[in-house]
Amino acid sequence: MPESSHTQTRRNQHGDYPQAVSVEDFRRNLAAVRARMDAACHRAGRDPTGVRLLPVSKTKPEPSLRLAYAAGCRVLGENKVQEAFGKWDAMQDLADLHWSVIGHLQTNKARLVARFASEFQALDSLRVAEALERRLQAEGRALDVFVQVNTSGEASKYGLPPEDVPAFLNALPAFHALRVRGLMTLALFSSESERVRQCFVLLRTLRDRLRQSAPARIALDELSMGMSGDFEIAIEEGATVVRVGQAIFGARHLTDSHYWPDEPSSKEPRP
Ligand SMILES: *Cc1c(COP(=O)(O)O)cnc(C)c1O
Repeated sequence: MPESSHTQTRRNQHGDYPQAVSVEDFRRNLAAVRARMDAACHRAGRDPTGVRLLPVSKTKPEPSLRLAYAAGCRVLGENKVQEAFGKWDAMQDLADLHWSVIGHLQTNKARLVARFASEFQALDSLRVAEALERRLQAEGRALDVFVQVNTSGEASKYGLPPEDVPAFLNALPAFHALRVRGLMTLALFSSESERVRQCFVLLRTLRDRLRQSAPARIALDELSMGMSGDFEIAIEEGATVVRVGQAIFGARHLTDSHYWPDEPSSKEPRP
């Protein structure tokens, strides 16, 4: 899509996201992100109602999450299960606030996810699927899940290699408590927008191809891709969910290596 090929990543601007400290700040940031999302949809000839904004609240303290709630957020994304569980526990008074776990899960934490999360976006092993299934059955709950795919080829990133995804999907109908919604990816962390775009193109083409052959209970409608620095490119390439933290909550002062423990921290210099 030539007219959009110059959309830039904003990965060198992390320090530019001021902290949101009032409901007004959150309202303004949410409106600004939605305006950018709408513009990207417009460029791509897409209906803006086909793209969901998932605000990502990781590392931010409870008062900040409550402001986001007051500004209208009803689902929050968290990367670390323990942190998410603690926040859920502290905010049970907000009955209509839902939680999406977007980071790698260890099987020994599946019990927590089964208790409080409504969505899990980082499914990448049958061991985790089995652990979740068992715990969800025990809780009498179901969970929306996304299969995480490693589209950047970086050994340090979580997610299945694209070639392993078909067999993985074929195994998932056995897990009745998991409602498969689609695929999720993290793009290459780069200021070169064309290389970032290639990650998103890979996820979309994989989804389009697998849609034909996916087992009956496996829906592949959703593509979760794009973060503060690259969500416009992701939307141009078909994202149905964008996961946006810093552009809504303000910059994080820890490097992302803190959340993706295997990643070299040199990829994101401290602001
Ligand atoms: C932190 C995180 C995001 C959001 O990143 P921002 O730069 O804050 O927008 C999106 N997806 C995942 C998996 C994350 O861990």
